[in-house]
Amino acid sequence: RRAREAAAAHEPCRMADGTRIEIFANLGSVADAAAAIAAGAEGCGLLRTEFLFLDRDTAPDEEEQRETYSRIAATLGDRPLIVRTLDIGGDKPVPYLPMAGEDNPALGLRGVRLSLARPDLMRLQLGAILRGVPAGQCRIMLPMVADLGDYRPVRALLDEVRGELDIADRVQLGVMIETPAAAMLAGQIAREADFLSIGTNDLTQYTLAADRGNAAVSQRIDAMHPAVLRLVREVGKGAKDAGRWAGMCGGLASDPLAAPILIGLGITELSATPAAIPGLKAVVRTLDMQTCAALAEKACDAASAAEVRTLAREALA
Ligand code: PEP
Ligand code: MG
Repeated sequence: RRAREAAAAHEPCRMADGTRIEIFANLGSVADAAAAIAAGAEGCGLLRTEFLFLDRDTAPDEEEQRETYSRIAATLGDRPLIVRTLDIGGDKPVPYLPMAGEDNPALGLRGVRLSLARPDLMRLQLGAILRGVPAGQCRIMLPMVADLGDYRPVRALLDEVRGELDIADRVQLGVMIETPAAAMLAGQIAREADFLSIGTNDLTQYTLAADRGNAAVSQRIDAMHPAVLRLVREVGKGAKDAGRWAGMCGGLASDPLAAPILIGLGITELSATPAAIPGLKAVVRTLDMQTCAALAEKACDAASAAEVRTLAREALA
């Protein structure tokens, strides 16, 4: 089985009924890109750019950022690269950012909120991405969006920077769905954003009101919870109605047990840790859409994450 998985690892992923499901990788460094390609990634669904910004006294300048994005893009060849703009919040001290020791950093000035508070840094990062990643390969994604009010100013800034750089092609700008607000407004957001990608780590913490870093409640945190899955369903529907795609880049996307349910809910791109990619492709290749859709509806009607996992295990057995 290992040998068969390895041989098929570099083929594009299709379900048994022919439906195309893209299997992308989450990256957090230059080295990750090579590992992802080796594992059979069809692109990068989430580049966490925080690694460039942490553990230093000043922000990386545009040239340093451009160089790093460019190296990752080159490693990916012509595969798509989705770069997430800076997602830092009050839980990580960064001396050059405006973060004032918040009582609830998870509910504070983080992700796109911080970027909107520091448009100078945002402009610099967008410029570095546009200059470092070839236009045909480049996609940009915003973290911690709650509604279109978080999206529109960035869209305007991106088009402005693009104009300054004389880049003719429109650059895709997508939204991470990781707040319940954004999930509920997914259809509306998808009419303006180019794509949606669900961040289940944060979406689960906010939906279940359980801090993802607090060991005392970690047992409650399972993205297979029916409340989270109903939001995923909302996102899948909203994207489809708007003619956009919806993917997932949170931890749940790396769980092969979740794949049939997610696909049944309308998710067409899974961005996983590189190590999970071969196994994920192997599972997706056994699936058909009708079975996935029926399983997904049952999962949304379940009463707990444990019940959902039992359903999923039975379906995959
Ligand atoms: C998420 O929240 O699911 C996500 C992918 O972003 P991060 O884990 O970096 O917060
Ligand atoms: Mg997140």
